[in-house]
Amino acid sequence: MPLADLLGQDLVRERLSLIVRSDRLPPALLFVGPPGVGKASAALLLVEALNCPEKVNGDACGHCPSCLQIRRQRYPDLLLVEPEKRQIKIDQIREIQEFISFVPMVGARRIVIIKDAHLLNQTAANALLKTLEEPAATVSFILLSHCHNLLPATVLSRCLVLPFVALSGAIIMQILARQRGAGEVAEVPLEEAAAWSGGSMERARFFLEVENLRWGKALVERFASLPGRSLLQALDLAEEVSVSESLEVVFFVLHNFLHDSLLFAQGLQPVPELNIAGAGPAAAAVCAVAGWSDQAGSFAALGIAQLLAIRQQILDIERGQAVNINLKLAFEALFSGVATGCWGSRVSCQNM
Ligand SMILES: [Zn+2]
Repeated sequence: MPLADLLGQDLVRERLSLIVRSDRLPPALLFVGPPGVGKASAALLLVEALNCPEKVNGDACGHCPSCLQIRRQRYPDLLLVEPEKRQIKIDQIREIQEFISFVPMVGARRIVIIKDAHLLNQTAANALLKTLEEPAATVSFILLSHCHNLLPATVLSRCLVLPFVALSGAIIMQILARQRGAGEVAEVPLEEAAAWSGGSMERARFFLEVENLRWGKALVERFASLPGRSLLQALDLAEEVSVSESLEVVFFVLHNFLHDSLLFAQGLQPVPELNIAGAGPAAAAVCAVAGWSDQAGSFAALGIAQLLAIRQQILDIERGQAVNINLKLAFEALFSGVATGCWGSRVSCQNM
């Protein structure tokens, strides 16, 4: 696929096109932005465009052997590294070092893409830094991260940062419609999946599954009804959420629900959801499906101070994942606090 197919990231696409036209790839690029907005796709599109021998208007042709190999991640001068068990370890950096020690086989340079670069552990980050400090003319790195503030400043300072933005509802619907097979009818309306996506294609695809959407709605309902409920309900919810395979979505849903509750608590109306600017006529449809106004309105009765404390606690748990806090205990403290109104001890990374 050509770079022109990178939808919803106009500024980044322009920068990448400049890099391709000048054929000057910096030693290290860092793509930052929310999950599921096209960072990994953009990295592959950039590699395609740089290496395509049959360029069309300075962009990848999208169908030559080079483009196809890159898309399938079977290009000899491309190495894609991703975390194993939520960490990028020193062994993986050694694999990178070996890969870049060889001259390019086909293209002008060897390129290493590192997904979720914020999950580099300390030893791995130090080893990578050494490599970045001695850049070879025939090697480039593309780091991807949705939490780049967790990267060591020394690594950050070596990278040219390109910020990706959340996708608009219109773009999400456009991509979903394009990916849907001809004549295929989705169980969940695209507008509803887009409304729950928060501008992320990953989440849009997740909520396109009817089971997942049902799960998301149940999560909101159970969380919203916690105030005044028994401790047992809080503990049950904590147990389920802490082992969820979709923790990123859990945090996203809780943050957005809190956001809307806070607006209600200040006497404001939430703009129904989520990043749908530019959706045109579709916007009305998306607004109509924003589902949790009543629950957020009731939850707002907790008051601004309490809501802010809850939001902070959710943030603490989210950040605590990086240092492997006990999620079950952390969610128990959060949900029982919401249920009982008692905030004995704030969860922090230090005391877990
Ligand atoms: Zn090509």
